[in-house]
Amino acid sequence: MNTVCYDEIRVENLEVFANHGVFPEETALGQKFLISLIMYTDTRRAGKTDELQNSIHYGEVSAFLTAYTKEHPRKLIEAAAEELAEELLLRYPLLEGVTLELKKPWAPVGIPLETVSVKITRFWHKAYLGLGSNLGDKKGYLDQGTRALDSIRGCRVEKVSSYLETAPYGGVEQDDFLNACLLLKTFLSPRELLDRMHEIEQEAHRERRIRWGPRTLDLDILMYDDLVMDSDDLTIPHAEMHLRDFVLRPLAEIAPNKFHPILRKTVSQLAAELAGVDEK
Ligand code: ATP
Ligand code: CA
Ligand code: CA
Repeated sequence: MNTVCYDEIRVENLEVFANHGVFPEETALGQKFLISLIMYTDTRRAGKTDELQNSIHYGEVSAFLTAYTKEHPRKLIEAAAEELAEELLLRYPLLEGVTLELKKPWAPVGIPLETVSVKITRFWHKAYLGLGSNLGDKKGYLDQGTRALDSIRGCRVEKVSSYLETAPYGGVEQDDFLNACLLLKTFLSPRELLDRMHEIEQEAHRERRIRWGPRTLDLDILMYDDLVMDSDDLTIPHAEMHLRDFVLRPLAEIAPNKFHPILRKTVSQLAAELAGVDEK
């Protein structure tokens, strides 16, 4: 979640009769579900203009939730909630994030209980990605990678830097690279995004042979909001981004003032520092 303060529009306990469930009687007979929602958005414009078009129409949202829930029965309320949250983020451009709670009153677990529910929060995030190619039709691969990212459900490419021709990195003899950076708006988690990026690399016939060796398409996550994470297969911000001219130069074109959350410097500061070091 971003550190920005959001206003909230709330809907509480919208009743929907639907057929979610694992048991045959649930799917056949249906039961009552309750949906509660917090929509994170900026209500200032609507507040100043008093015009509905500047806000999210909660009546329309409620009607949508009702229809969608009835038409898309799922076994798990987890799945139903996930889909509803994603559909709302996709449909309402003013929506920055959503907390959705799906309650199942008197869930049939054979023990008396009031409600069972799942509550999830999903937000749009900003990810900066690095792209590189040094085999075959390099520009074609970068174009293909950008298009493929944009066509993922829950991903929109918002800015793309120019493509920069650069000398190879890491001491392996090979052809020059074409590099670029882009800004992706996404509701995927970093790991989901990485998996999708690997699929796109595979579609571009990338073979993973030598590290830093020739490749048709390399996609790296450079930054993801202000997230700092370090796991076996994913380090964010990218561990070497601040040492790479072919990352910082294109990134400075589209995000000069983006702050590196560990180094506490902007991309343009990092680019200038690296250029200074290179000149010595
Ligand atoms: P480098 O990461 O130094 O740019 P590379 O891109 O050539 O090297 P790959 O073979 O593409 O390396 O990736 C190796 C692994 O790095 C990936 O499978 C992935 O799990 C891991 N990885 C860690 N952090 C990141 C990140 N921020 N973005 C992409 N991959 C990452
Ligand atoms: Ca890389
Ligand atoms: Ca990579």
